[in-house]
Amino acid sequence: MTSSSPEIIQTINLAVAIIKKSQRTVALTGAGISTHSGIPDFRSPGIGLWNRFQPMEVASLSAFRHNPEQFYTWLHPLAIQMLTAQPNPAHIALAKLQNAGYISTIITQNIDGLHSRAGAENVLEVHGTLGTLTCTNCYRQVSSTLIMEDYINHCTIPHCQVCGSILKPDVILYEEQLPIKTWIKAEEASKNCELMLVVGTSLEVMPSAKLPIQAIDQGAKLIILNNAVTFMDVRADVVIRADVAEILPQIMNEVMNTSNIPTKY
Ligand SMILES: [Zn+2]
Repeated sequence: MTSSSPEIIQTINLAVAIIKKSQRTVALTGAGISTHSGIPDFRSPGIGLWNRFQPMEVASLSAFRHNPEQFYTWLHPLAIQMLTAQPNPAHIALAKLQNAGYISTIITQNIDGLHSRAGAENVLEVHGTLGTLTCTNCYRQVSSTLIMEDYINHCTIPHCQVCGSILKPDVILYEEQLPIKTWIKAEEASKNCELMLVVGTSLEVMPSAKLPIQAIDQGAKLIILNNAVTFMDVRADVVIRADVAEILPQIMNEVMNTSNIPTKY
């Protein structure tokens, strides 16, 4: 299905009508929205990082504690990609929709910070972020912009400037719980929305995959924009199986071409 086929134009029109009608829309995003920014989907067959590494051996909390050097060696190519990546048209379209009042909250499973860098606000990063690090000893939190430069350039392990202990990126590793305050906000937003817009996620990772269920159980509409099938497709009002970086800007343009702008959240 191409972006100009009659079928997809029809589904886009339907999605646009639902977005324009909704007063509280929550977007839930995943790896698929960042692949056009050059960030690989961890779980894609063939290219997924997990295919080349045993995640529990490098990216679990216990692995980090026992062997932070190995963790930072594993993270290095991914960190370079994420910290130098630029938002793509899908991130920008979502931010524009939010700035215009059509989206209240963006819940993302991504750790790349690209929604914020595209101009989005109220972004709930339920899997944490590579944008900050926390000291494993004194819990001081620092921004990655300054501290990661040495690591990016020389693969030097980042240490706390106050107590000298190793810093851990604020990304959620295996064996770690999701950031509880962020997660509670994500659940509340999902339960209280009129529309959930799922973008670029196959909804394979729990517990984030539960959020659309919580939304529609409370009567919300559901739009799924993803290039692969999801287990929630059968319950969605609209499913657009296409490239998000191509389709989301189209949807944004159609939604914004209206005199019926809602009150900003
Ligand atoms: Zn410290």
